[in-house]
Amino acid sequence: MACETAIHLAKQGKQVLVLERGGEIVKDAYRFHKYKVREIIRSSPLVQVAFHCNFKKITRNKVFLALPPEEMDGKGTFFRQLTPEEKEAEGLSDEKGAIFQAEAEVVYSALGRVPNDTSGMEAVLQKKGIPYEKIGDCVKARKIYDAVTEGFLAVSGVENKK
Ligand SMILES: Cc1cc2nc3c(=O)[nH]c(=O)nc-3n(C[C@H](O)[C@H](O)[C@H](O)COP(=O)(O)OP(=O)(O)OC[C@H]3O[C@@H](n4cnc5c(N)ncnc54)[C@H](O)[C@@H]3O)c2cc1C
Repeated sequence: MACETAIHLAKQGKQVLVLERGGEIVKDAYRFHKYKVREIIRSSPLVQVAFHCNFKKITRNKVFLALPPEEMDGKGTFFRQLTPEEKEAEGLSDEKGAIFQAEAEVVYSALGRVPNDTSGMEAVLQKKGIPYEKIGDCVKARKIYDAVTEGFLAVSGVENKK
């Protein structure tokens, strides 16, 4: 979602910096989608990507992070190294290496998804003796195919139990 948002903002003329913890973007998308998004990002003069970011602190318009020096190439306008005093002021004085600050109008966070807690609903169903199956994102945040497949299998199971 981060990369789609980056493209959307770039289309509005905004300069965008995508900060990625790992070594690749759009990792979990389907093949064709991944290919297209990467191509658009590569060819956009307004979108830049920094990989291997080690996030330390995120605020509404700032990200404090450590990152390999080569990831800053050509992105100097985005990053600024914190002085020891600034590190202390940001509560990052325990960090040994260089900490950089990336400042923006707005920071959008697309840090992954976690399932909603269904334990309350499960407790009610168990108490009332209503059989149930957990499917889709409430088991683990994944893709539509997983939810539909598990839904089908769960319903088949119910049919078999009759
Ligand atoms: C931004 C984003 C982009 C995505 N893009 C893709 C993509 O490109 N391709 C892909 O395959 N997947 C994508 N996904 C993942 C996909 O949307 C989910 O995997 C899929 O929707 C899971 O289906 P589900 O039925 O388990 O959950 P959901 O689709 O979330 O359905 C759960 C439903 O339960 C309802 N609900 C929740 N709590 C209660 C309650 N207490 N009482 C009654 N109703 C309740 C909710 O309102 C919702 O309608 C994306 C997800 C997000 C967030």
